[in-house]
Amino acid sequence: MAINIINMTTKRKPKLAVWKFASCDGCQLSLLDCEDELLAVVNKIDIAYFLEASRNVVRGPYDISLVEGSITTQHDAERIQKIRKISKILITIGACATAGGIQALRNFKDVKEFVSLVYAKPHYIETLDKSTPIASHIKVDFELQGCPINKHQLLEVLSAFLYGRKPNTPASSVCIECKRRGTICVMVAKGIPCLGPVTHAGCNAICPSYCRGCYGCYGPMETPNTASLSARFSRLGANEENIVRTFRTFYANSEPFRKESEAHEIEEAGSKKSETRI
Ligand code: SF4
Ligand code: SF4
Repeated sequence: MAINIINMTTKRKPKLAVWKFASCDGCQLSLLDCEDELLAVVNKIDIAYFLEASRNVVRGPYDISLVEGSITTQHDAERIQKIRKISKILITIGACATAGGIQALRNFKDVKEFVSLVYAKPHYIETLDKSTPIASHIKVDFELQGCPINKHQLLEVLSAFLYGRKPNTPASSVCIECKRRGTICVMVAKGIPCLGPVTHAGCNAICPSYCRGCYGCYGPMETPNTASLSARFSRLGANEENIVRTFRTFYANSEPFRKESEAHEIEEAGSKKSETRI
């Protein structure tokens, strides 16, 4: 990956902007949650646009933009183009921005049906048929996965871009984190289904450390073997519907999880929509 370099030799501190699209705000809060590290961050960066933290706005252009949330309206689709134009480096943060988020469950159904069921006056609602990640609309310099993201990974990514190096956010699986912290595998020891073998590292394997399976909130790791894991789930007693639901949560719209859930979807006639690949 080619890394844009911010000129740190000028007296001016690099300007950071934080933007929100369709999301719950949890990833933006990860920045505020830095607490001990926040003073060091503002020492190096001018937080110029961050409406969740301050009404004070410094006009762009910006050196780094962090973008949270997915694109769900025509207005969003136009706004993200403008943000790209005024951002030297643009980093997407979280499941919504990197994969469409939980709201991308609409992508598997007819959104008009949801709108008519949820809203008393559906004709006031203007929405796109699908929830899509930011990278489907503009060039993105880096995607940081997680729901929400890990604050230490966020600090690492910001430092990396400030100093023109590649961020150290390993694309290995949650299983590696289990091994590093000495957590006994819940799938092997207790037969609990766990998405850890196909899920991106970053949380330090929190759920298995509390004796529960991972449900994939950090999204797919690099080259995940989802078909093999589904076969393991079947041997543990999961039926096709269980497997579809397992892959359809926070990262339902990411390509590997979407394809795996579709491979197990049963058509009304009872046949599979597509064959399982092992
Ligand atoms: S508990 Fe889950 S994440 Fe941990 S080693 Fe087992 S399968 Fe992997
Ligand atoms: S669901 Fe998986 S990725 Fe998310 S916090 Fe739990 S172990 Fe980590």
